[in-house]
Amino acid sequence: MTSPVKSYAYPEVHGPLNLSALPARRWVECASCIEMEHVESDEQADKWATEHHRVSPRHDRFRVVVQTGWRIPPADDVTTP
Ligand SMILES: [Zn+2]
Repeated sequence: MTSPVKSYAYPEVHGPLNLSALPARRWVECASCIEMEHVESDEQADKWATEHHRVSPRHDRFRVVVQTGWRIPPADDVTTP
């Protein structure tokens, strides 16, 4: 799953962590500036990078970032304030 999932970007994880079972966000970004685009596939990343390079020829380094978040459920016996 690679679509943006803002409403549950940090789902509670009970038990062992299984990153591949959690929602993930994926984007391609330029290493020379701050521009980026959410992508669902390698083809979308390639298309965006190619177009970005066309309009900014000196920007020729790109990376795809995949981000997965999770939250640890609150402990029942919290003793510290
Ligand atoms: Zn750039």
